[in-house]
Amino acid sequence: MSFSVIVKNESFKKYPEDIEVMANEIAAFLFENGVEKPDAVCVIKADTERRFPNINIENNGYVITLTNNVGSYWNSQLYELAHELLHFFMRSSYVKDSNDTDWGGLNWVEETVCEASSFFFLDYYANNWSKSAIKRSNNNYAHYFSDYACQQNAKNERQILSYSGVTIENVSEKEFKELNEAADNKDQRVRRARVMLRLADIMRPWYFKGLVQYRNYIKNGLYLDSERYIKDFPGNKAVELLCLISDRIADRSVYKDLLLNGHL
Ligand SMILES: [Zn+2]
Repeated sequence: MSFSVIVKNESFKKYPEDIEVMANEIAAFLFENGVEKPDAVCVIKADTERRFPNINIENNGYVITLTNNVGSYWNSQLYELAHELLHFFMRSSYVKDSNDTDWGGLNWVEETVCEASSFFFLDYYANNWSKSAIKRSNNNYAHYFSDYACQQNAKNERQILSYSGVTIENVSEKEFKELNEAADNKDQRVRRARVMLRLADIMRPWYFKGLVQYRNYIKNGLYLDSERYIKDFPGNKAVELLCLISDRIADRSVYKDLLLNGHL
């Protein structure tokens, strides 16, 4: 087995080949920037009954489900596809037990990276649309990628403004556990939104190499082993940002434990 993308053509009403091209272009971009080619097949299908896209293990293989079955809504499909593909690369690069459906990941890291990646690739396609192999492409479409990014960005900003709770930088350890468990739920997403937008802002192509390997740097089930992680990917500001968040919360919990145990 080696890496390949298989699109379930019959699940799309129109242009499934565009989805395949886009998935392969994103993958090629990641490989060019140091992400290792996984020994795994990525199946992509559409299901209009679903409200949200997702990635699952079906018959021992990875299956991405998109919510739109017409292959030419390139901007919104890219947004979904880039997110789920990043899950795929983070999970398939991780050596796991066979049939293990608990992939041993950290939801708060993974969701933040996947969401930021959607923004990164919208921007990438806005700037490189003329180079895309999608056959029906026309240069006039490029701005629709930026428009969609602006829309999604504004949605995040609105949610951040209307949210009055504590965000990931300041949550307690208990809240952090909840946040990690339900990282893709709407409320928890708002808690991570500012960090996610920051990550999207600072993202560089070569940062992905370090980001997809985060599973090798999990510490105590909830945190990142920042010292080792940063040392292995010097200059990777995305890794540094995630480690900073992790350290802040870990430090606070250490401080609290010392306080509770009467050491302070
Ligand atoms: Zn996700």
